[in-house]
Amino acid sequence: MRIAIAGCGIAGLATAAGLARAGHDVTVYERFAEARPLGAGLLLQPSGLNALRQLGLEPEALEAGARIERLHGRTPPGRRVMDLRYAEAKAGEYGVGIHRASLFGVLHTAAIKAGVRIETGAEINGITGAEHPGFRLADGSETPPADLAVIADGAHSALRRAVCPTARDKLYPWGAVWAVLEDPNGRWTKAAELAQVYHRCEVMIGILPVGRDPLHADRPASVSLFWSLRPGEEPDWRSEGLTPFRERLETYWPESAELLAGVTGLSAFSLATYRDVRCSRWHRGNVVLVGDAAHGTSPQLGQGANLALGDAVALTEALGPGRVSHAVLSRFETKRRPTTRFYNWASWALTPLFQSRSGFLAFWRDLLFGPLSRLPLVRNIMAATLTGRGAMPPWGGHRF
Ligand SMILES: Cc1cc2nc3c(=O)[nH]c(=O)nc-3n(C[C@H](O)[C@H](O)[C@H](O)COP(=O)(O)OP(=O)(O)OC[C@H]3O[C@@H](n4cnc5c(N)ncnc54)[C@H](O)[C@@H]3O)c2cc1C
Repeated sequence: MRIAIAGCGIAGLATAAGLARAGHDVTVYERFAEARPLGAGLLLQPSGLNALRQLGLEPEALEAGARIERLHGRTPPGRRVMDLRYAEAKAGEYGVGIHRASLFGVLHTAAIKAGVRIETGAEINGITGAEHPGFRLADGSETPPADLAVIADGAHSALRRAVCPTARDKLYPWGAVWAVLEDPNGRWTKAAELAQVYHRCEVMIGILPVGRDPLHADRPASVSLFWSLRPGEEPDWRSEGLTPFRERLETYWPESAELLAGVTGLSAFSLATYRDVRCSRWHRGNVVLVGDAAHGTSPQLGQGANLALGDAVALTEALGPGRVSHAVLSRFETKRRPTTRFYNWASWALTPLFQSRSGFLAFWRDLLFGPLSRLPLVRNIMAATLTGRGAMPPWGGHRF
């Protein structure tokens, strides 16, 4: 079958690699002149590692990334808010912090090896046909008709409404600025944890070891540093400059400021925004949504890329070497819905506890999260959520 994929991100590349290996003729269309990763380092959960294993790509990801054993969040004076170890969910389990460029490289190499063609500089603004869909490009041209079109153009998708006209894709009011920085003494990497500090709900700082930058393998291992910010406040934050930012980091988390040692300006940081994406349907005719285009979440639970990888494996399994049909696409959607509904719901419910101006939520979070997370039942639920095994029960969450 001829398959056209919109978007050369994590979902698009992983789906392309899987479907090409199943014997299909796959072309990926990407708007950028060069296919390249954009965005912060990310945390691969056991669920994402499992998907990479099924694609035969786990060893490459492990090699490129940094092992993460624990998620640890506290207030500046040291009150514990979160402390979860992967091994508590299942002995021997762990996550992997990875440079986005490394994950992109692993998926890109696999896709090219499997025979996938990647057309860059192709900004898609519409879909043509239903039974033999293709893409309409911004320059007015059209791509050749395919047997299946996969929409993987991310959280800010321009195409999802062609499949689900009633899609909800509300921008979260808070985003984050992030930078990948050298870990000068390797101590953050050695700690093997995603470490976070929260002051009320307005300040959230995160540090995630992500291994070596694949473009600069000679440099020390790096970390991704996140700082919570409302997109509208970015211009003021930038015009204040680096010194006040460094001082704020020192106030809330003195050790973290060492990461700015080699930084000369705030241009090292990029702003990321995210959307709460909910679609009542993921396929129409022979067009199907995958990844953030279908179910974008806030990165609070570190699941979006893992869900995208899971989609790629599930769509490859549902289709196999065969032909597309309504039943095949429904099988894919039915398999993925309980998981994506759960994470849409959980990130929608939990994000204001970490990114908002609510003094009320901050008070109860700091008071209750630590003690509650010691209860075995709550701990089990938190561990399952962290590892990517969360799923909505069949009777719940149909709004998500
Ligand atoms: C700050 C931040 C931190 C995150 N941390 C984590 C984490 O720790 N763990 C985790 O699992 N997830 C994390 N995520 C979420 C994760 O990045 C996304 O869920 C994941 O990238 C989704 O993959 P995707 O392929 O669906 O979309 P994307 O990766 O966004 O890819 C979409 C692709 O489509 C292309 N495209 C878009 N529009 C068009 C168009 N019109 N025509 C042609 N091409 C187009 C884009 O250029 C891009 O290449 C984080 C996200 C952010 C913002």
